[in-house]
Amino acid sequence: MRHLSVLILLLAAAVGTACSQNQAAANEAEDIVASRTKDLTKTINYGHRPVAKRDIDVVVIHSTYYLGPDSFNIDGVLKQFKRYDVCSHYIVGRDGTIYKTVAENNVAYHAGVSTLPGTNRKNCNSFSIGIEVICSPSQGPTDEQYNSLVALVKDIKTRYTINYVVRHSDIAPGRKTDPWRFDWKGFNQRLKEE
Ligand SMILES: [Zn+2]
Repeated sequence: MRHLSVLILLLAAAVGTACSQNQAAANEAEDIVASRTKDLTKTINYGHRPVAKRDIDVVVIHSTYYLGPDSFNIDGVLKQFKRYDVCSHYIVGRDGTIYKTVAENNVAYHAGVSTLPGTNRKNCNSFSIGIEVICSPSQGPTDEQYNSLVALVKDIKTRYTINYVVRHSDIAPGRKTDPWRFDWKGFNQRLKEE
């Protein structure tokens, strides 16, 4: 009986440690996101629509750049989005700045015609959060962008049960190829780390 009690105590301690580690990782991600985020939601009136309530369980990773001079400039990217009436919830700049462009509860127009792989769930915009990483087919994301992106997805996971983190090319194969030059394996590995 005594052995059992000791075992239970040890198990409880182990679970407690794991929980506090998770909590510490979540706090760290939250701190990184808070220190790098610029909130632009009040100035962006295109590419999204408000909804009373929606269920979110998917994060979609994209990449984008401005088809003009200074192609990695946030203002150019936003000008382009406005022209096509599209937007994502977040855009990660080359220096790791996280531009919050659409409130998470709103439906943002980032995915277009899409189907979640392995399911028949279409129109991924309605149940996802979209994140654009500014890069090009010849210049992939910077280390700072990966760092911000990992923290941002971890932070989002503290608010929603995210069952799928997917690439735009996963949900619109044949039509979309982004994110470009993206270390998908390394990124997913870092998402799993504490
Ligand atoms: Zn995309």
